[in-house]
Amino acid sequence: MDSVTVDSRHIGILGGGQLARMMALAGIPLGFEFSFLDPSAEACAKSLGSLVQADFADADAASKMAEAIDIATYDFENVPAASATAVAAVKPMYPGVTALEACQDRWVEKNLVAGLDIPVPSFEPVKSRTDLMAACQKLGFPSVLKTRRLGYDGKGQAVLRQQEDMERAWQRFGDFELILESFVPFDAECSVIGVRSLSGEIRFWPVSRNHHVNGVLTLSRAGGLNDQIQAAAEKVGRRLLQHFDYVGIMTVEFFVRDGTLLVNEIAPRVHNSGHWTIDGSTTSQFDNHIRAITGLPLGSTAQTNHALMFNWLGELPDRDALLEVEGLHWHDYGKSPRPGRKLGHATVTAPDAASLQQRANQVANLLGSDWQSQVETVMVEM
Ligand code: AMP
Repeated sequence: MDSVTVDSRHIGILGGGQLARMMALAGIPLGFEFSFLDPSAEACAKSLGSLVQADFADADAASKMAEAIDIATYDFENVPAASATAVAAVKPMYPGVTALEACQDRWVEKNLVAGLDIPVPSFEPVKSRTDLMAACQKLGFPSVLKTRRLGYDGKGQAVLRQQEDMERAWQRFGDFELILESFVPFDAECSVIGVRSLSGEIRFWPVSRNHHVNGVLTLSRAGGLNDQIQAAAEKVGRRLLQHFDYVGIMTVEFFVRDGTLLVNEIAPRVHNSGHWTIDGSTTSQFDNHIRAITGLPLGSTAQTNHALMFNWLGELPDRDALLEVEGLHWHDYGKSPRPGRKLGHATVTAPDAASLQQRANQVANLLGSDWQSQVETVMVEM
């Protein structure tokens, strides 16, 4: 593979979704042009570059796109290994194939993290009904059965609360390779987003406190977690970034339990819980990802504002009403509505915690009671 040069101008992204779109929105002002490989003719990044319409498993198409670009990256971690390898054989691809492959398989990922002496929930491999029974006996109830591959946003998983749930879950997922994890009765969920440059410089944004509904992120609040949690999250992030000799953005998601952190998963990419960095920090995760993979100096990751991000799933709320809220930044991904689909987000920023609380309440009141309790949960300082 070639290396990055000062003339490297054309970035190819495997995936043309909202993460690719936000990378392009950050990279175009820096002077880069973009191509996106995506199976959908409606890929929401397409207006910001050239669309190569092809299946992600089409390694030939991926390789052909790689010929036409200077540097490659991706916007989701389930890029088939053969396509990622085909691209990386032709042009530099960041983050590299090793990190990508490790994050595609929960079993590989958990063993790697545990092997680095980083705490994770207890886990057991499950390849048969007998394995499942043995694993349930070992980990006890409740526990969480997950497919090793292709699970995201709570897909491909089931909470087992009692003996009877085992058979039901086996009927659903028995055809896949699985792991069983102990259920963590967490006090909070959070994530740290770190960036590592080509020269090995590492920076982190303040940890985001995250709220999920049915496994899908609904809210991310920047900060609000104490310094010990920030330090512990950065220590884990640094260890992982160095382990992979990583370049670009990495996200590590955690469960917080009694003030300590357990890794839930690693995303080798820009992440939904870092969208607040666009409006609430000096340099966004998207901007720094592009800088990192193209060999430009990293920008400051300092938080400039108190910030709370709301995810819009399935349908967009009333934009015009919400724009009445001071400090609200609207992001529409230009996608057609579909139940549960991520269509956009809004980040509310404020100069201090009290005004963030007040603005967040205003938004929650406009959205309805489901949101009010969620906002209350993430606004509690820990
Ligand atoms: P995942 O796709 O593994 O990130 O899971 C999605 C969400 O499901 C997480 O953000 C948690 O809210 C919940 N979850 C997943 N695994 C566990 C676990 N072992 N214990 C408790 N909650 C979990």
